[in-house]
Amino acid sequence: MTLTILDPATEAPLAEIELCGLEETDAAVAAAKRALPAWRAMGPNDRAQILRRIATAIGEHQEQLAQLESSNVGKPIVDARGEVGMVAETFWYYAAGPERLMGSTIPVAGGVDMTFREPIGVVGLITPWNFPLAIAAWKLAPALAAGNTVVLKPSELTPLTSLRLEQILLEAGLPEGVFNVVVGPGPVCGERLVTHPDVGKVAFTGSTAVGRRIGVLAAEQIKRVTLELGGKSANIVFADADLEAAAAAAPAGVFGNAGQDCCARSRILVERSVYDRFAELLSPAVQRLRVGDPRSEDTEIGPLVSAAHREKVRSFLDDSLTVVARAGTPDGPGFWQAPMVVEPPTLDHRAVRQEIFGPIAVLLPFDGEAEGLALANDTIYGLSGSIWTRDIGKALRMARGLESGTLSVNSNNAVRVHTPFGGFKQSGLGRELGPNALDAYTEVKNVFIAT
Ligand code: NDP
Repeated sequence: MTLTILDPATEAPLAEIELCGLEETDAAVAAAKRALPAWRAMGPNDRAQILRRIATAIGEHQEQLAQLESSNVGKPIVDARGEVGMVAETFWYYAAGPERLMGSTIPVAGGVDMTFREPIGVVGLITPWNFPLAIAAWKLAPALAAGNTVVLKPSELTPLTSLRLEQILLEAGLPEGVFNVVVGPGPVCGERLVTHPDVGKVAFTGSTAVGRRIGVLAAEQIKRVTLELGGKSANIVFADADLEAAAAAAPAGVFGNAGQDCCARSRILVERSVYDRFAELLSPAVQRLRVGDPRSEDTEIGPLVSAAHREKVRSFLDDSLTVVARAGTPDGPGFWQAPMVVEPPTLDHRAVRQEIFGPIAVLLPFDGEAEGLALANDTIYGLSGSIWTRDIGKALRMARGLESGTLSVNSNNAVRVHTPFGGFKQSGLGRELGPNALDAYTEVKNVFIAT
């Protein structure tokens, strides 16, 4: 079957892709299995050297990859360049991995005891359409560094950069079969990776519903899983905060990538005594957002990824919501959705409780620290969030109390290559990035030698 990939900003066809099925997925797993013995046995310095060459090659192809990602996802070109830069940085960071995957020696009676970190084997990666290349790299770089071979199933909507990455890695010297890409339907190819007996681990980013299914299927084989799932993160603004700075930053905190971001701070909680003032400051900041052609260097927000996703996002809007702030959108073709901040009639409204994954944020008042904390934690999710205050004690009390994996104070910025990323509660299982992500792609082996 052939799939036509669309440009979300113009609705024009971008590429035709031949879809894979079970047979191709099994062939990719078999190729990864064949490549495994040589890759895991390769000297750590040689493996590190290949990862460094990959990092260099991605840097050299930054503009090409950014253009491809921008046109496939509808992402502003400036953001796409930043993401490809992060992909190269991720490979640089984990290139140090092969030479630093150290075990330990443990004092025991009667001999010497030592641990080794072994690769898991063939690893399946299943990635979403919102940050296709960046999220693939977060998984791929540590998986390869630890000596695993990989099959990647990108989202059918946005496979173009993953397919180009496969070529770039081969050209950079990665042996054939170590990294394989299959583009096909999630319930077919993705699910096959989860149930295939030769796949030792699955790392998934996507919806909580699919993550739950993957967890259930993986449990049957005691398969290792890392799950990065949805979010409904809070942006908490206290009365003592620098309100101008908090209001200026709030739109980027939720509307970046057109709100299609699991870290989107889509619940803006404001202490009641400054609620009206904050809304006054927020409104022009939202109106000023430059929504438009992703190819333009000035654009801050592009279209949504597909017509179907726009319908899903719009289903959250109804007459009971009061619009507090809104940006404009271009006319003509493209899956556009105006960014908006709304006040819900009650805390039970779907827009408050569920992940919208589009440019719609709810604005909610709270009274005092305890109520702010309770409101922020009143969600099944726990991925991200921000705290705005000038009181360092309050910032730390809130940071410790929030049931969330990745927080920032007086900033929206919390995702870095060098620091762990992942969720509490139904936002996921395990952590990616940072110094410990390599561990998630290894097994610990203990060896005792009698003396
Ligand atoms: P999905 O969770 O359906 O898709 C994510 C990936 O999983 C895609 O590659 C998809 O393949 C694959 N997949 C789908 N079904 C299965 C399955 N049964 N077994 C294995 N893999 C599968 O996300 P959607 O694209 O449908 O988005 C729906 C919602 O998910 C969004 O509105 C948002 O709320 C959330 N989401 C969260 C993300 C995050 O970063 N945490 C990222 C993306 C979405 P394919 O699509 O090609 O069939």
